[in-house]
Amino acid sequence: MHEFSLAGEVIRLAETEADKNEARSVSEINIEVGDFSGVQVEAFRSAIEILTEKSWLSKTRLNIIRKKGKGICPGCRREFEMEQRVDTCPICGAFPSEIIGGYEFRVVSLLVEKD
Ligand SMILES: [Zn+2]
Repeated sequence: MHEFSLAGEVIRLAETEADKNEARSVSEINIEVGDFSGVQVEAFRSAIEILTEKSWLSKTRLNIIRKKGKGICPGCRREFEMEQRVDTCPICGAFPSEIIGGYEFRVVSLLVEKD
């Protein structure tokens, strides 16, 4: 499953950062997930839980920040929120929009604890 390999990557990143900072634990991981990223948030969250269960990261809090899809209209150049990639401009109805947001999948911050 896609979400499992992503979860594995996030955990490796957390471990690397913790090592680098000589931290005892990682208390928080903040991740942005765009609506068009193809990542299923619930599946991702359970993948993290399964992979960190009984590990030293089992207490880590995972904060997922959802990012809405965002597009720019090809006609009136207005920016608008998109539910789907095929949404037309809500103002003038033009299509297709240039998609400028919603594909995010990134770790924005990690909070590590020393002692
Ligand atoms: Zn428009």
